[in-house]
Amino acid sequence: AATLGVLGGGQLGRMFVHAAQALGYRCVVLDPDAASPAGAVAQDHLKADYLDAAALEELARRCDAITTEFENVPARALEQLARSRVVAPGASAVAICQDRAREKAHFDASGVACAPYAVLRSSADLAAVPDALLPGILKTARLGYDGKGQRRVADRAQLAAAFDELGRVDCVLEQMLPLALELSVLVVRGAGGEVVTYPVQQNLHRDGILAVTEVPAPDVDAALQAQARRSAAAIATGMGYVGVLCVEFFVLKDGRLVVNEMAPRPHNSGHYTMNACDLSQFEMQVRAMAGLPLREPRLHSPVVMLNLLGDLWFDGAGRERAPDWAGVLALPGAELHLYGKAQARAGRKMGHLNVIGATAEEARQQARRACAILGLPDTW
Ligand code: ATP
Ligand code: MG
Ligand code: MG
Repeated sequence: AATLGVLGGGQLGRMFVHAAQALGYRCVVLDPDAASPAGAVAQDHLKADYLDAAALEELARRCDAITTEFENVPARALEQLARSRVVAPGASAVAICQDRAREKAHFDASGVACAPYAVLRSSADLAAVPDALLPGILKTARLGYDGKGQRRVADRAQLAAAFDELGRVDCVLEQMLPLALELSVLVVRGAGGEVVTYPVQQNLHRDGILAVTEVPAPDVDAALQAQARRSAAAIATGMGYVGVLCVEFFVLKDGRLVVNEMAPRPHNSGHYTMNACDLSQFEMQVRAMAGLPLREPRLHSPVVMLNLLGDLWFDGAGRERAPDWAGVLALPGAELHLYGKAQARAGRKMGHLNVIGATAEEARQQARRACAILGLPDTW
């Protein structure tokens, strides 16, 4: 059988491996951590650093095509692999997604509006920041996630202090926008240039981490949904992207659509596809990298996805406890996915619960019951 490789051993890699194996592929995971969620389910696990040239050589030797499951894989690793194997997504597209300054330039080039911004590379750039960007959010250009590596700044004094705090690394300052809601779109592009998109996902974050995704997006009209899907497709095509790409958007209080950022891989907000669509985002990634047909995915059920963070594994006094999975699994439409992580920690992504229904109201109702059982807030 053909073999697919994945750089990174987290939960996204694990769900990718499951989808690949269901289609008959063997999988090899490369991850430095001997106990990674994906390494535990793949046929082979190369325990090595992502820049270990010999390990990459070995991965290329064993695999027909290779993908990545985390955003910060060194572009150099992808370049080395691409000399002998299909690599999707490619190094140049991943490099754009890894750097907010390049990402924003790509949004501009694609004709998709993003927040007004300035790139700050040194303290000298602080003085040139236009007043219109304040109040704003200062974000490190690289390596931020789950709201880490960002500071909200009200004025120039706070901006200078935040730039120091973040270590004076390259940053992007964005104007603080009045958000009505947040959404994201999964777009999949094949090596031949064919593009399909998934329905728009409406997302709620708590403390900077995705908490709830609802599809169909209850508060986004059809015209705006179509615009988001067109914009995501243009962004993917414009960088010659191959594979699954997730593009995050804001809807502003005045109704305008603004692109926020993108992730070069299947995405947490796309986990609903595993139970609510005929093709999951992970199967799409397999199809795109293996050169299999991409067809328009179909949403067969309204769905609410609840993220299950490590906090659920602790009671109010900080004692570890087991969430009531049996109670949740008794609910109609509830599908539980746990990532096999040994140790729960506050804020750590441990799993997710997809709740599908015959109607959106039914999915919401059962999801609220799940929240009550698990001790999650039931408002979104
Ligand atoms: P992720 O975990 O999704 O990769 P991240 O750490 O890369 O997150 P962003 O998506 O850039 O961070 O921002 C985190 C959140 O902060 C957004 O989901 C949004 O709620 C808020 N936010 C970011 N930029 C702006 C902005 N320009 N105006 C208003 N709110 C913003
Ligand atoms: Mg991000
Ligand atoms: Mg984000």
